[in-house]
Amino acid sequence: RKAFRLSHVTRVPLLDTTRIPDACSAELKDTCARILDSGQFILGPEVMAFEKTMAEFMGVKHAIGVSSGTDALILALMTLGVGPGDKVICPSFTFFATAGAIWRVGATPVFVDIDATSFNLCPDAVVQALTAKTKAIMPVHLFGQMADMQALKKVCDQRGIAIIEDAAQAIGSHTDNRMAGTWGDLGAFSFFPTKNLGGYGDAGLVTTQSDELAQEAKLLRVHGAK
Ligand SMILES: *Cc1c(COP(=O)(O)O)cnc(C)c1O
Repeated sequence: RKAFRLSHVTRVPLLDTTRIPDACSAELKDTCARILDSGQFILGPEVMAFEKTMAEFMGVKHAIGVSSGTDALILALMTLGVGPGDKVICPSFTFFATAGAIWRVGATPVFVDIDATSFNLCPDAVVQALTAKTKAIMPVHLFGQMADMQALKKVCDQRGIAIIEDAAQAIGSHTDNRMAGTWGDLGAFSFFPTKNLGGYGDAGLVTTQSDELAQEAKLLRVHGAK
């Protein structure tokens, strides 16, 4: 019997961050050079332009750039004033940061089962898990597939519970003609290099239709400075 030889196996990397599509390579390099020359490495006109493009793309009123998807989740929770004593419902099947962000603001994550077909937060299970301390729910649109936002919104709207969408894996996803991150009170996106829209390093985005929440999030983003 012939021995199985590993050298015959073609290795396909899950992700190769050195590969940049030829079509945008020059533009990306020019942009990086422009940012280096400008000296504005934090926020500034490039981030403002990105926020505007993203808001238009998603059809959302406000898009607020932050340093990672985790920070986007934490900022969204802080914007809603979620903290110690509050419970936030999230799915039991997600990336660590969903529950980690809830814990980081001092609130308690409440794990709820997922729907067997969508792998996303199950609306019936959410109803079962609600208590007087439930301040918000955090549905995750895992693998780009959207949670049942119609059903989840109905559950929350009736009871005055906030929704933060963890859309870290769902930029551009939509359901019922509405994009991920535009259904809830706030949405959170990640541009970690492995994500659907990967950046050169860490980056994230908070979205909201509310002027009031946007103002608060922008203030918290810069430690209260104006
Ligand atoms: C990646 C991810 C995050 C965190 O994003 P980072 O940019 O890595 O901080 C949060 N939630 C989900 C579902 C993710 O996949």
